[in-house]
Amino acid sequence: MRVKLKHKNIHIPAISDDVLPHLLVRLKVYDDIVSGKMKCRICGRKLTLDTIGAIGMLNGELILVCDKLSCISKASILFSEFQTSG
Ligand SMILES: [Zn+2]
Repeated sequence: MRVKLKHKNIHIPAISDDVLPHLLVRLKVYDDIVSGKMKCRICGRKLTLDTIGAIGMLNGELILVCDKLSCISKASILFSEFQTSG
């Protein structure tokens, strides 16, 4: 499944299935994802490789959210508040 973002205010880039596992390994959360330990930061839904909607850093903390549009929207607001221009 490929993540598609259509909301005009969302700036989080869609992550392709090819890149995602490598990214998760690099962020040291891959094992937690596949073992079901990671949950959506917004709604608490268990995250799998198929349900990750967005990944971002907030105050140095890794934030993962699921692929619900409502969660991605809220995450984009969180991230945009943190990420000022540039
Ligand atoms: Zn969620």
